[in-house]
Amino acid sequence: MDIHEYQAKEILARFGVPVPRGGLAYSPEQAAYRSREIGGDKWVVKAQVHAGGRGKAGGVKVCFSDREIEEVANEMFGKRIVTHQTGPEGKIVYRLYVEGGVDIQREIYLGFVLDRKSERIMVVASASGGMEIEEIAERAPETIVRSVVEPAVGIQEFQAREIAFALGFEPGQIRQAVETITGCYRAFDELDATMVEINPLVVTGDGAVLALDAKMTFDDNALYRRQEISELRDKSQEDPRETMAADRGLSYVGLEGNIGCIVNGAGLAMATMDMIKSSGGDPANFLDIGGGATPDRVAKAFRLVQSDHNVEAILVNIFAGINRCDWVAEGVVKALEANPVDIPVIVRLAGTNVNEGRKILEESGLPIITATTLAEAAEKAVSAWHEDNASHLKAVAS
Ligand code: ADP
Ligand code: MG
Repeated sequence: MDIHEYQAKEILARFGVPVPRGGLAYSPEQAAYRSREIGGDKWVVKAQVHAGGRGKAGGVKVCFSDREIEEVANEMFGKRIVTHQTGPEGKIVYRLYVEGGVDIQREIYLGFVLDRKSERIMVVASASGGMEIEEIAERAPETIVRSVVEPAVGIQEFQAREIAFALGFEPGQIRQAVETITGCYRAFDELDATMVEINPLVVTGDGAVLALDAKMTFDDNALYRRQEISELRDKSQEDPRETMAADRGLSYVGLEGNIGCIVNGAGLAMATMDMIKSSGGDPANFLDIGGGATPDRVAKAFRLVQSDHNVEAILVNIFAGINRCDWVAEGVVKALEANPVDIPVIVRLAGTNVNEGRKILEESGLPIITATTLAEAAEKAVSAWHEDNASHLKAVAS
């Protein structure tokens, strides 16, 4: 789960990370009022959306008066911010963060990620901040500092000092840099984060160290024990289709095409997407029913895919190990009986109780197209979608 910049800053500040003064606003008037609370003569108005790259997309604006803040805020509220991290549909701005404007002398990149190879939290940092880490890796890979943290002892002061020196902090800034590095690590570790990123971490004109941007992502599987984090969820920033699925314990990924896919397991999902593509079609989404799915769960999954307006054909592709084909078939039949569709439905079942499953489909009398292999299923789905589309067009023309 992602959270907003202002929320990440609030959390990190509690762990001793220095951040500028700021306040949240839900209206232009409130934004202007925030600047008076903060004081000073320069402010930055920042769109709160779950994506980086806001600066380049018009989501970060420097202002010099409260009138200017009100104007900028007026522009930003309700605006769709499109960055390389949002996808073409972008994310809408409902909250603004107003922050004291900082005199930047140096920009540093500081990140904490899970390194799956060493099974440890790893610090990834670079003295060339202000760019995304992907860009740093491309343009200045030699500046990247990596340091793996030993979980039994956590990050040690000497380790944080080593990183701080490698990033070129001056002696007077080392203490603040060390506090920032250890604070981020503790927040990551104690709150079940999967990513903490400060980009940029800056040195100001008067030599102070400050986190100007902050991003945190949390482990969804640990949210049940992190009440205070799960309350930070902002559904307005999520794909509504994915939110609906997550609320029902299903995992759903929305895509741009028109063939809806119900599968079990991420690997089979990938294979199914590939097969649809190579048959000349385009997946609208995929929904993973997971293992041991009951007929009810399958029916729910089916209804969810049905409710996606982009879906013009549905492909159910199940390779049952822990799952049972008869339960899947029952779920599909149940969903179709309760809510008949006029789009093609293709079902391919394999594995546990496959014969029972096929029998249920046959005996239902529903116009379900069946297939035995994945390739056959994908081909049938794509050609059924084409035919169905052609007959719709004919109907419209006549
Ligand atoms: P994003 O990464 O989404 O583009 P940032 O919060 O990193 O958003 O802001 C983009 C840039 O705007 C920063 O790299 C920094 O140069 C500048 N900036 C952000 N916050 C402030 C601030 N409080 N004072 C001065 N400049 C800022
Ligand atoms: Mg940034």
